[in-house]
Amino acid sequence: MWRGTLTKMDTAVADPVRYRLRDAFGGPALELNPLLGKRLRLSRDGGLRCIHCGSPTAKSYGEGSCYPCFARLPQNDICIVKPELCHFHQEANPCRDPDWGLAHCFMPHILYLAVSSGLKVGITRESQVPTRWMDQGASLALPVLRLPDRLSVGRVEQFLAGHLADKTHWQKMLRHEMPEVDLAAERRRVLDLLGNRFPCEVLPERESWRFTYPALEWPTKVLSRGLEKEEAVEGRLLAIKGQYWILDRGVFNVRKHSGWCVRLTEVAP
Ligand SMILES: [Zn+2]
Repeated sequence: MWRGTLTKMDTAVADPVRYRLRDAFGGPALELNPLLGKRLRLSRDGGLRCIHCGSPTAKSYGEGSCYPCFARLPQNDICIVKPELCHFHQEANPCRDPDWGLAHCFMPHILYLAVSSGLKVGITRESQVPTRWMDQGASLALPVLRLPDRLSVGRVEQFLAGHLADKTHWQKMLRHEMPEVDLAAERRRVLDLLGNRFPCEVLPERESWRFTYPALEWPTKVLSRGLEKEEAVEGRLLAIKGQYWILDRGVFNVRKHSGWCVRLTEVAP
C-alpha cells in the first residue's frame, strides 16, 4: 500500500480533519482517512534514517535526527522548546543558523488557547495556524495575541504558565475525553491577567476554531505501540487524532517514529 520513511503526518482542515501519510524524503503520500476500519500492518523495512541528512542512525534524537544533526541544526536547539532561552543576540553563544532564526523565530507568533484534553495555553508561528492545533489533537482553539517574535511570545507564555494550570493529558486526548471549556471566557481571564505587562497585539474576539477527527470509535484504554520493540504494529484503524493512529490493539505515534523506513500493508480481517 505504501513504502517510505515516516515523518509527521500532513493535515488539512476538513470535517473531519484530512490526514495524509507523507514520506520524509518526498516520495508519494497516502490518503489515510479512507483506511478507517481496515486492518493495517506497519512493518519495519530497513532501519532508521535521519530525516535531515538521510544517514542511517541507530537511535533517533529529537524527532528523527541523527546525533550530528541533533547537535547542529537550529530546529533542534533547546530554545525551540524553551523560547525564553533564545540566544540569537548573544555574541558568545550565537544562533546555530542566523538565517534560519530570522526566517522562523523572528516572524509573527501567536499565543492561543486550545482544548485537547484540558485547557492549554500555547504558542506557535503564525504560519503554523491551524496545523499546529490539528497536530495536537485540539478540539477547540482560539488565537488570542500576536507578537513579533518567538522570544517575546515565549515570555508571555511563561508568565501565564504560573497562573493557569496546563492540563493536557495525551491519553485523555486519545480517549476523546474533553471538559466543557468556554474559551471566550478564558480569553478574557488571560487578558485580565496580562493587563499591560507585555506590549502585544490583542487579536479581535472571534469564534473558536473547531476540529473533528476521523473516527469510528474512541478507545477506552490507551496502550502505546512502537517499532523500537516490535517488528511490526498491526491492528484495525479506529481513529486518527493529533499525530496518532488509534488501532484496536493500541495507539501509534507517527511523528515519534520519524525516520523509520516502513512498509504499510492491508491484512485480511
Ligand atoms: Zn542527520
